[in-house]
Amino acid sequence: MDLGISGRTALVTGASRGLGFSSARALSNAGVKVCLVSRSTDRLSTAVQELSDGCHTIAADLSDPSSIQSMLEEVKETFGAIDILVANAGGPPPGNFETTAIEDFSEALQLNLLSTIEMCKGLIPEMIDRGWGRVVAITSIAVREPMAQLILSNTARSGLTSFLKTTATEVAGAGVTVNSIQPGLHGTERLTELYEDLQGVAANVPTGKLGNPDDFGQVVAFLCSEQAKFITGAAIPVDGGAAKGLQ
Ligand code: NAD
Repeated sequence: MDLGISGRTALVTGASRGLGFSSARALSNAGVKVCLVSRSTDRLSTAVQELSDGCHTIAADLSDPSSIQSMLEEVKETFGAIDILVANAGGPPPGNFETTAIEDFSEALQLNLLSTIEMCKGLIPEMIDRGWGRVVAITSIAVREPMAQLILSNTARSGLTSFLKTTATEVAGAGVTVNSIQPGLHGTERLTELYEDLQGVAANVPTGKLGNPDDFGQVVAFLCSEQAKFITGAAIPVDGGAAKGLQ
């Protein structure tokens, strides 16, 4: 399927591996010129080799607002206009109300909420001027069903979802869509690091399988497509049916 975005430009953060990388690869396969961002230059160099020519990398730390500003300046210098933002980062550490300090909340809010707001502030105004733009944030199924021991993720991503929904309504008339995708359990390296028994983890998913990161990337690319222009303000679960609620 031709997604109608060949020749467009994208900034994909948290893109050296996992769901961010799969999203970058799917966009690259659709003919998009992608800039991959993560903290490690080495990992980025390896990752970009799997993408089409014309892609680019920038090392930046999303937990540092000044690093985000420099990164935004560099990507605009390199690519000119940015048509697509896929906002992603690593997840915050686990913990509950009792074990989590107030400083931990500040760090998680910076990494998993404010970094995306900062990138939206830096990129959406120019998308509006050009009359076309796509923003997709990778959040978590925990927004629908807050998870025990993930109080930081639950808190930051719910706030982000509300920011995106509010912004989507404001910019819809200018041809800019703003959505989030909520991953359930996907077979990324992070999950392999977290769990020894991946089959046991998969048994808790109604499909009986973990999500395939490449499939996830294709969903992100579709939301960035021309055909997805009427989807905005949505928070879409990609979780194999794991979330139990109706919404
Ligand atoms: P991952 O840990 O494999 O990849 C995270 C990426 O973000 C890496 O490229 C890493 O280098 C980059 N990154 C981390 N901290 C950064 C920082 N401060 N600045 C810049 N880049 C940074 O994670 P994943 O499994 O691909 O998941 C992606 C997101 O989706 C995470 O936020 C995760 O919590 C969330 N999520 C994942 C799953 C899953 O099953 N994989 C489920 C629910 C939510």
